[in-house]
Amino acid sequence: MLIASLSAVLAAIVVIRALSRAVTVMGSVNFNGMTIVVDAGHGGKDPGARSAAIDEDEINLKTAQKLKVLLEGAGAEVIMIRESDVDLAPEGASHVKREDLKKRVEIMNQPQVTLFISIHCNISLDSRVQGSDVYYQKDNPASYQLAQAVQGRLKAVTHSRLKPKTGDIYILKQTQTLGILAEIGFLSNQEDLARLQKEEYLEEIAYALFQGIDDFMKILQ
Ligand SMILES: [Zn+2]
Repeated sequence: MLIASLSAVLAAIVVIRALSRAVTVMGSVNFNGMTIVVDAGHGGKDPGARSAAIDEDEINLKTAQKLKVLLEGAGAEVIMIRESDVDLAPEGASHVKREDLKKRVEIMNQPQVTLFISIHCNISLDSRVQGSDVYYQKDNPASYQLAQAVQGRLKAVTHSRLKPKTGDIYILKQTQTLGILAEIGFLSNQEDLARLQKEEYLEEIAYALFQGIDDFMKILQ
């Protein structure tokens, strides 16, 4: 009995949350006319960072799919780099990772693309480091602003203390289109690892990514 009423309360909370989100999405910037590339990092032959419990590529894809729904709901055209467990290297490629990244950059560099967001999970030798970590394109003020906006929203969910940074990241160096790379948590941190396996947590992350893009668009208007 107690369990039944508790689950009813929980169901009600889920509905209320979904409704408040729908209202917020409606109150956001109109994304009509925007084309956003959502890049779920890794996939196929390249699982990305691994822990005993999970592979990075799976979490990236789940989050990317949730972000896609939100962006499309706000009117954006979304190009997904991948929608299943695949890499983008041609069959029989001798350098799978390099060919895969080259193809991703090609998609991001298409002229109709407004911006791209690359979704990854991090790993650190220091298991205490946790939370989101966002990278921007060097010497690109718009990319820095986008990274700040997205990390601002992610921080509220992941409790990260990390500031946006640049790095030696192929995708960020080879793209002409505006974009960022968001590491949504550390698989090397027990707390992050546990919550990254929860669908509801990935919903929160996707929504924070969406809000960050929305905040950035408002700065531009
Ligand atoms: Zn990665």
